[in-house]
Amino acid sequence: SRGLMAGKRGLVMGIANNRSIAWGIARACAAEGASLALTYQGDALKKRVEPLAEQLGATVVGHCDVTDPDTIDSVFDECGRLFGGLDFVVHAIAFSDKDQLDGRYIDTTPDNFDKSLFISCYSFTAIAQRAEKLMTDGGSLLTLTYYGAEKVMPHYNVMGVAKAALEASVRYLAVDLGARGIRVNALSAGPIKTLAASGIGDFRYILKWNEYNAPLKRTVTIDEVGQSALYLLSDMGRAVTGEVHHVDSGYHVVGMKAVDAPDI
Ligand code: NAD
Repeated sequence: SRGLMAGKRGLVMGIANNRSIAWGIARACAAEGASLALTYQGDALKKRVEPLAEQLGATVVGHCDVTDPDTIDSVFDECGRLFGGLDFVVHAIAFSDKDQLDGRYIDTTPDNFDKSLFISCYSFTAIAQRAEKLMTDGGSLLTLTYYGAEKVMPHYNVMGVAKAALEASVRYLAVDLGARGIRVNALSAGPIKTLAASGIGDFRYILKWNEYNAPLKRTVTIDEVGQSALYLLSDMGRAVTGEVHHVDSGYHVVGMKAVDAPDI
């Protein structure tokens, strides 16, 4: 096949349904000729991921819950058998108890802090450990982050702390893996209505606020995040590592935000 991703073998983790950011990235990679392996979390999502995989000619390599390391090993073993190696991995996984994505950060419980940081940050490192072994010819690791890592966003709370840790881990992993030609980057996506986002309080308000204040005066789509991912996953980004790249209609550069939306 031809295209920017021709000959590249990738694992995409984090598709829940056809609104997932990981689905936008998988679709963009497949359109450019990548061979893809997809995972799902639990039987409920298996039913959604299987038909999506079929649309792309991708292989479902199994259930992966990052809190169970055996399931991480098993999907990477499966990728090894399927492809004989890997060129890229997309990590689009995050979790926090919904009742803590509302109100004040200060009320975070130790249990939810552990769980949120483990699933949303440590899992990327756990995945990098496995990916390193399969990326014998270099590679590209990509995770998804949000502006709430840099600045306080209403209701984002412990997830903002987890994303800050995730962005720091991108830089440490980039140094650890650089000598092997493995690049590590993050895309910082603007708000998009997905399953995970529906857990965040007042999300509609956040979307509107972005629409009125971003330089491009609009929000972003999963396809646009996918197109940006191509740059970091393909050889176009071969000199880029340790980077957090914003795909947010420019929202993050605006210092003085002024909303003129009549309905806000
Ligand atoms: P989504 O709900 O479609 O995807 C989240 C995925 O995380 C799901 O597929 C879910 O199965 C997976 N997941 C959660 N816990 C897991 C676990 N223990 N093991 C394995 N998988 C697990 O939502 P999304 O918005 O596409 O989220 C993808 C990534 O993008 C997340 O990291 C999210 O924080 C990030 N992000 C989202 C937005 C947004 O506004 N939607 C903005 C910036 C960054």
